Amino acid sequence: MNDHLTPDDHRALRELLAALAQGQLTDAERTAVLAHLDSCPDCRAELAQLEATARSLRHADPDRVGGTPTPVPPPWLGDAIVTAIGDEARRRPRRRIVSVLAAAAAVVVIGGAGAAVGYTVAPKPPAIPLEAVAVADAAAGVTSTAGVVPHTWGMEIKLTATGFASGQRYRVVVQTADGKEALAGEFIGTGANEMHCNLNSSVLRQNAAGFRVLDQTDRAVLTSTF
Ligand SMILES: [Zn+2]
Repeated sequence: MNDHLTPDDHRALRELLAALAQGQLTDAERTAVLAHLDSCPDCRAELAQLEATARSLRHADPDRVGGTPTPVPPPWLGDAIVTAIGDEARRRPRRRIVSVLAAAAAVVVIGGAGAAVGYTVAPKPPAIPLEAVAVADAAAGVTSTAGVVPHTWGMEIKLTATGFASGQRYRVVVQTADGKEALAGEFIGTGANEMHCNLNSSVLRQNAAGFRVLDQTDRAVLTSTF
């Protein structure tokens, strides 16, 4: 295995091989993994096996089942798929291993300074554009902060609070700029325990003027005006 890698990093790398065999890596990830393969016969052997599996999957055409004998998948096939899916879910570790590989590759890349720079910069996850909004008129005992996140499908309200009566149901309604209200969701009060509640509204941020939290008698126990 490559001298630049710790055993953990090498294990993370091997988990990328299934995604590579199925053509699921980005260009930068692929470049980094391929650079490692040049120096690692173990990973090359593993990749060859995974590619054979990917080929047999592609050939297992459901339309032909019945005409020809159905290929029996090898027992480890399930693991390969789980690995590929799990890898998709672990974007952060994947980015980390790519940056580790890129750092290693940058040492050996000859005459490819431009390309090396391209993948030494690991992509950062985009920051969540959370907009803090003021809350007011909270009922006695309620302490809260709120923020909103604009989305293409509407707006998310992130409400952190203590003091909403334990076990009581509350509704959150968004007020639109033209004076209407739309339900954004409900929650149950958690008393003295701090709650972190996300509420989704179909009202777009630019059309929203604020929100209110209503108790079971429709009394506003908290308001926020944007
Ligand atoms: Zn390897």
